[in-house]
Amino acid sequence: MPLGIYISVPFCRSKCTYCNFASGVFSNTHMGHYVDRICTDIVKIRKVATDHRAVAPDPVDSIYLGGGTPSLLPPDQLTRLFAAIAQQFNIAPQAEITVECAPGTLTEPIVQSLVACGVNRVSLGVQSFIDKEAASVARLHTREKTLADIERLRSAGIRNINLDLIAGLPHQTRASWNESLQQAIATGVPHLSVYILEVDEDSRLGRELIAGGTKYHAHFVPEDDLTAEFYETACTWLNANGAQQYEISNFARRGFESQHNLKYWTRQPYLGFGVDAHSMLPATEGAESVRLATTDSFEHFFVEAEIKAVRVSAAEALEESFFLGLRLNRGVHLDQLHEQFGPELNRYKPIITELAGEGLLLQTGNVLQLTPRGRLLSNEVFEKFIQEPASTVLSR
Ligand code: SF4
Repeated sequence: MPLGIYISVPFCRSKCTYCNFASGVFSNTHMGHYVDRICTDIVKIRKVATDHRAVAPDPVDSIYLGGGTPSLLPPDQLTRLFAAIAQQFNIAPQAEITVECAPGTLTEPIVQSLVACGVNRVSLGVQSFIDKEAASVARLHTREKTLADIERLRSAGIRNINLDLIAGLPHQTRASWNESLQQAIATGVPHLSVYILEVDEDSRLGRELIAGGTKYHAHFVPEDDLTAEFYETACTWLNANGAQQYEISNFARRGFESQHNLKYWTRQPYLGFGVDAHSMLPATEGAESVRLATTDSFEHFFVEAEIKAVRVSAAEALEESFFLGLRLNRGVHLDQLHEQFGPELNRYKPIITELAGEGLLLQTGNVLQLTPRGRLLSNEVFEKFIQEPASTVLSR
């Protein structure tokens, strides 16, 4: 079974007001030390896995640099990261190698170094093609810069490009959302991700919305019903334009689905390095798995060398199989889950019946899928599949 590798690069030029990731505007002088620490972890990770009775399989068929803004790393640091991976792992010849980039950061030397490092897929955090909307959440790019970046990538041979859009940004209207969508479709990129603005205490905009205030243009955020309509429009238009929805937030032309993200949704093994990165590996025996995690604090990352481990029981793995697998339009196969987890599956029959009765799930033979309404209310569906936590902490 092949392996995926994720590297978190938490450096950003500005902190977007909606962002709830472990990222920030940290001095560039930290970049070298940050890459040092990741290279050290890459060298020791197999031993850490073995110590926790887990296996890191071979070869690596997906690498993903996310963040943060990995395209802010200078070319020599990017090269060091990829060289460290290549020294420790066998990379499959057809491996999907993705780097997340902020539009406006793709200078010619950066694009050339991406190509030299073997990067064959780029994900651009566009969020909106309407400059006023992008600026209102502290994005630093314009539509013009984004379109120029797409052309620069294509000229360099990178045609597998994803664009991220967010429905529910301040100032977004039906007309402006349609314009962003039309522009995204017109670029002809083979993959699009459409997220609904998350409102939680972990972002400045989220906190302001919860408080009912007006900072960060919070009072210009569209109503939930309108944002839901934006999402539904995106589903209709993207499907009609050849980018088929294959996951709640993801749309792709055939053959361009994100191989790396599919690993998360299908519980395939992956290793994560950097601030707030997680790994999921099969245990050496049984249906259990092991999760590894690093600190989510940038400051602690440099002094806290330990990688923590948590053993995931078979019951929790089944839970995860439901709420991750149901994200995919193809759904989950109940017969396969039964083969893997046995009668434990029966515990979920009443929940499935209840959610199907509410029109949120659809069962066709052995296949269980979210309905379109279930995709809109997916968090409510997933909550039903989550039981009391029972993980055994292996180390702290
Ligand atoms: S660029 Fe991405 S990671 Fe950085 S602040 Fe903005 S949303 Fe967050």
